[in-house]
Amino acid sequence: MSTRYPHLFAPLDLGFTQLKNRALMCSMHTALEEAPDASVRLAAYFAERARGGVGMIITGGFSPNTEGGLGAKLSTPAEADEHRAITDAVHAADPDVKICLQILHAGALAGVPECVSPSGVKSRIGRFTPAALDEAGIEKQISDFANCAAMAQRAGYDGVEIIGSAGYLISTFLVQKTNLRTDEWGGSWENRMRFPIEVVRRVRAAVGPNFIVVFRIAAMDMLEGGLAWDEVVSLAQALEAEGVNIVSTHFCWHESPVPTIATMVPRAAFAQVTGRLKAHLKIPLITSNRINMPDVAEAVLARGDADIVSMARPMLADAEWVNKAAQGREDEINTCIGCNQACLDHAFGGRQQVTCLVNPRACNETTLNYLPTPQAKRIAVVGAGPAGLAYATVAAERGHRVSLYDAAAEIGGQFNIAKRIPGKEEFHETLRYYRRMLEVRNIEVHLNTRVNASMLQGLGFDEIIVATGITPRKPEIEGIDHPMVMGYLDAVLGRKPIGKRVAILGAGGIGFDVAELISHAGPSAALDIDTFAREWGIDFKNHPRGGVTGVQPQVQAADREVYLMQRKTDPVGKTLGRTTGWTHKATLAKRGVHMFNGVEYLRIDDAGLHTLVHGEPKLFDVDTVIVCAGQEPLRTLYDDLRAAGLPAQLVGGAFEASELDAKRAINQASRMAAEV
Ligand code: FAD
Ligand code: NAP
Ligand code: SF4
Repeated sequence: MSTRYPHLFAPLDLGFTQLKNRALMCSMHTALEEAPDASVRLAAYFAERARGGVGMIITGGFSPNTEGGLGAKLSTPAEADEHRAITDAVHAADPDVKICLQILHAGALAGVPECVSPSGVKSRIGRFTPAALDEAGIEKQISDFANCAAMAQRAGYDGVEIIGSAGYLISTFLVQKTNLRTDEWGGSWENRMRFPIEVVRRVRAAVGPNFIVVFRIAAMDMLEGGLAWDEVVSLAQALEAEGVNIVSTHFCWHESPVPTIATMVPRAAFAQVTGRLKAHLKIPLITSNRINMPDVAEAVLARGDADIVSMARPMLADAEWVNKAAQGREDEINTCIGCNQACLDHAFGGRQQVTCLVNPRACNETTLNYLPTPQAKRIAVVGAGPAGLAYATVAAERGHRVSLYDAAAEIGGQFNIAKRIPGKEEFHETLRYYRRMLEVRNIEVHLNTRVNASMLQGLGFDEIIVATGITPRKPEIEGIDHPMVMGYLDAVLGRKPIGKRVAILGAGGIGFDVAELISHAGPSAALDIDTFAREWGIDFKNHPRGGVTGVQPQVQAADREVYLMQRKTDPVGKTLGRTTGWTHKATLAKRGVHMFNGVEYLRIDDAGLHTLVHGEPKLFDVDTVIVCAGQEPLRTLYDDLRAAGLPAQLVGGAFEASELDAKRAINQASRMAAEV
C-alpha cells in the first residue's frame, strides 16, 4: 500500500464483497463492443487494466434490448456466454478486481428507428423521433433491464451499473422537459422517479443481494430546467433504500452546452457536488470528471468528497496508472490530457474505434505490441517532437539502442508551443512523461544539436529516423513581408508585440488556438474552478435546476479586436474536434472574436488587410496580421541523408504535414518503432 496516497489505496467494504482500492475504471464505449472479435479484444483490453492495479472496472454500455440502441446488446444466454472470455480474463489477471457491466438504454438518443422514450420528445442530437412508451412498453423496458442484469450475472460479472443520466432513457423520465406524461410515470417528482426505482427494484430481485449494483445519477445535468438539487438527493436516497450498493455521480447531459470533460475543464471541478450529496447517503459514492493524476484523486478522497474516484480516459492513456501510483512511479504515468481526439471524437464520429492520442496501444492490445527485439539496432532519431519521442521510447522499450537529437534546448517540438495556449496546460504532462521515459529507457539525448547529414556519417547507425517536423507555410500574398505580419510561432512565443486590431489568416486548430491566446484575459479557466464556472454559467454553490444559472455567462476578454478568417466557404471551425470544437467556437464568440469565411486575401499594406469577403471588397483596418496558414514538411535533412546514401526514414510532420496532428504523429511513430 502506498503511503503517499493512503485514501486511494484503502480497501472499501461493500458487506458481501470488498474493493481492493478506490480507483475505478469507469465506463467508456470503445466500439470494440461491436467488433467481430469483441470478446477477445475486450478481454485483452480489460485484463491489461486489471493487471495495472485498478480496483473495479465498468464496461462500456450494453443495451438491454434492441430499442436500447447500441450495437452491443446483452439479453440472451448466448450473448452472456460470449462475455465469459472477458470476465474470466479479468479475474485471471487479478481475482480481487471487480468487473461490472454497464446497462445503457439510450432512449431518445438510440440510433435506431424503434427507439422509445417517456413522451416521444425528440432529442436535438437524436437521429429519430422516439415512440412514446405505453404501459406495456414501460413494463417491457423494466423487465429487459432486470433480464440484462441477470445475464450479466450469468456471464460472470461482479455487478452491473445502471446509467440513469446523460439524456438516456432513465434520465428522460426524471426531467420535466422530456417527461410530459400525466399518468403515474410523469407529472410529480414522485411519479417521474418511479421508473428508475422500479428498474432498480426489479434488477435487485433478479440478481439477489450479493451482486454489486451501481446507479449512475445525474448529480448536475447542466441542463436549464434539469434536475433540482432536492430531486437529486431524494432520488439517491430512494435508490439507496432499494438496495443500490454504490451511487455514481455523473455531470453530463449530451445536449448540454457546457463542457464537462474537455481539457479546458479544471481537474476534479465537479467533485464538490459529489461531496455535498455524500452528506445525505450511507452508501459509497463515486465522483468523476478530469481526475487524471494520483494527487488529484487522493485530494478528492481525503477531502471526503467521494469514496471512489472514477477514471475512464486516464485508463486508456496508461493501463498501469494505479500500479505506478502505488509504487511511487507517478512521474512515469502517461497522463490523459483531456484532448478527446482519439477517444470521444472517435466514439461520437460514427463508431470509429476508440484509442488514445498519447497511447495508440489503447484498444489495440491484441494487434499492437512492443515486443522485445531479437536483434538490437543502433538508431538515431532526429527531432524530439511527439513523433521522435514516441519512436525513441518505443524502440528503446523493445531493446534498441537509441540516440535522440533536437536543435532546441528542450524536448517537445510543437507541443512546447501548444502548452502555452490557455486551456492546454495538460500538454506539460505529456512532455514530463517523455522526459522521464527518456531516462527510464536509457536514451542518449543530444539537445541544442542541429543535425546535418555529415554529422551522422560514420557513426554507424543502423537506422536514422527523421522526425524534423514542419515549417509554417508562408502564403503568397502581396505585402506578406510587411512589418505588421508575423507567423504563429512569433505570436505564441511573444517574440513580437501584438497590436489591438488583429487579423488571423487561417482558422484551423492553430488559428483557433492563437485567437484563444490573444483574446484571453485573466486566469486560465482550466486552472481555476470559479473562473470556469463563471464562463459557462454553472452555479456550484446554489445548485439551481441542472446546476446552470441560465444567465449570460461572464467572460473576461482582452482589450483587442480579433478577426479570424479562412478562404473556404465552410463554416469556420468545421475541422475542429467533434466533441470539443463547439467549446472553442463558443468561447471565442463570447469574447467577441469576429469569424469570416469565404475570404480572398488581396494585399497587406499600411492601411491593413485588403480582402474580398464572398466577393465583396473589405478592408480590415488592423495593425497586426498573424499567419496560421498550415504547414509544410521539413525534409532538408532527409534529402541530404538520402543523397549521402544513409538509411533515413521519415515520420510525423516531416513525413506528411497535411492534416497532421499529434495523434497521427505518435500513432505512426509508435507503429514504425514496434516493427523495427
Ligand atoms: P514537431 O513537433 O514539429 O517536432 C520536430 C522537432 O524536430 C522539433 O523539436 C525541432 O526542433 C526538431 N528539428 C527539426 N530539424 C532538426 C534538425 N535538423 N536537427 C535537430 N532537430 C531538428 N496537435 C494535436 O494533436 N492536438 C492539439 O491540440 C494541438 N495543438 C497545437 C497547438 C499549437 C499552437 C501548435 C503549434 C501545434 C498543435 N498541435 C496539436 C500540433 C502538434 O503539436 C504537431 O502535430 C506535432 O507536434 C507534430 O509532431 P512532429 O514530431 O512531427 O514535429
Ligand atoms: P490546418 O488545420 O490545416 O489549418 C490551416 C488553415 O490555413 C486553414 O484554415 C486553411 O484554410 C488555411 N490555409 C491553408 N493554406 C493556405 C494558404 N496558402 N493561404 C492562406 N491560408 C491557407 O492547420 P493548422 O491550423 O496549422 O494546424 C496544424 C495541425 O495541428 C492541424 O492538423 C491540427 O489538427 C493540429 N492542431 C489541433 C488542435 C486541436 O485542438 N485538436 C489545435 C491546434 C492544432 P483555408 O484554406 O480555407 O484558408
Ligand atoms: Fe485522454 Fe486524449 Fe487519450 Fe482521450 S485521446 S484518453 S482525452 S489523452
